[in-house]
Amino acid sequence: MRKVGLVIDELFVKHINSFDHPESPDRVYIINDMLNETGLINHLTFLEPRDAKKEDIIRVHTESYFQRIEKTKGKEKVFLDQDTSTNAFSFDSAIRASGGVLQSIDNIIENNIDTSFCIERPPGHHAEADRSMGFCLFNHAAVGAGYLRSKGYERVMILDWDVHHGNGTQHIFEDSKNVLFFSTHQFPFYPGTGSLQEIGINDGVGYTVNVPIDIGMGDNEYIKIFNEILVPITSQYKPQFIIVSAGFDSFVDDPLGGMTVTTSGFSKLAEIVMDLSNQFCDSKLLLILEGGYNINGLADCTKEVFETLLNYNGDSTQQITEQTKADNTIDIVKNNYLEFWDF
Ligand SMILES: [Zn+2]
Repeated sequence: MRKVGLVIDELFVKHINSFDHPESPDRVYIINDMLNETGLINHLTFLEPRDAKKEDIIRVHTESYFQRIEKTKGKEKVFLDQDTSTNAFSFDSAIRASGGVLQSIDNIIENNIDTSFCIERPPGHHAEADRSMGFCLFNHAAVGAGYLRSKGYERVMILDWDVHHGNGTQHIFEDSKNVLFFSTHQFPFYPGTGSLQEIGINDGVGYTVNVPIDIGMGDNEYIKIFNEILVPITSQYKPQFIIVSAGFDSFVDDPLGGMTVTTSGFSKLAEIVMDLSNQFCDSKLLLILEGGYNINGLADCTKEVFETLLNYNGDSTQQITEQTKADNTIDIVKNNYLEFWDF
């Protein structure tokens, strides 16, 4: 069995947006219950998360934005955008969630564990350098990539399979080839970014890879997109570390997303990513929970992914040879990036 780290903390259930908000503490409670009921918890290495320091956060956020969120500490309610707000604990939750990512990275680099999965909230991938958005305060995946950059890593890949586009992560790194951002997302959809025209800017052109897909895509479509676009690009980029923005709102019964990915689909996606991390970066792989709003579905999907991470034995993933609804998009995306990558 592989050594898989787990980050989870009581602060991750103290941040509350508002009553009846889909991004609720129940998301962490149900995964915690699942880990205990299945006994999976006994096979995971618990990593005590630390609080990210201001210097960790402002590698990717502006200092004034950090201060703005810090000032919400202790206040009952502050509204940041139409669907994102804080309570007295939100700042503490967010810096500990970013710190969980840093703690994971340290343990992965020091070879204490093979990989880590951070079960934390608030989520992060919509958070821009200077503002919160879409339930997100600090961008944990970006904080992690910024930390790796500060340690001299020159090729970090962030894979975002959340049903929404990770606008914040893209914008933070879109002018850099040191962080490759790859995203599959429902399009057109919230937050409106992630079109085929967005391929990176300046030195980063070609290193922002957007795969905008129609509503209704499922396991075969995602697996084919990964095999035909993600795998060749990763093979050429040769990342030294892979971070996954693991959202589960592309699950078939998610109340917000419109995709049809099943629990076994997520397991196969995780396997492809494990193959890549095995092949190119000595299994240096970190997953961070982003979206996923069907509470029971979230527990089932994360169970599959944890089991896949623990039991992975290097078997290559099944290829999808039949036609899928994503074939046209796959051709368009390949053409869009022909100048930068061989397919
Ligand atoms: Zn999402």
